[in-house]
Amino acid sequence: MSKIILDQNKCIGCNTCPLMDPETFEMDTTTYKAKVKKQPEKITDAVKSAVEACPVGAITIEEN
Ligand code: SF4
Repeated sequence: MSKIILDQNKCIGCNTCPLMDPETFEMDTTTYKAKVKKQPEKITDAVKSAVEACPVGAITIEEN
């Protein structure tokens, strides 16, 4: 199963990933960084779009 890794040290809190895929990502209201809300059962186009749209490359998909 694939796993989404979001590096909060890289995240600049631009809010793009929750907009692109609100099922998978949400903003952490204490740190103003994004976090994984729920690991997706499969890598959908919405997940891929969010990964590609991140301006700092903070989100990666780990295949195992
Ligand atoms: S798109 Fe990237 S920088 Fe923007 S909130 Fe999501 S993880 Fe953070």
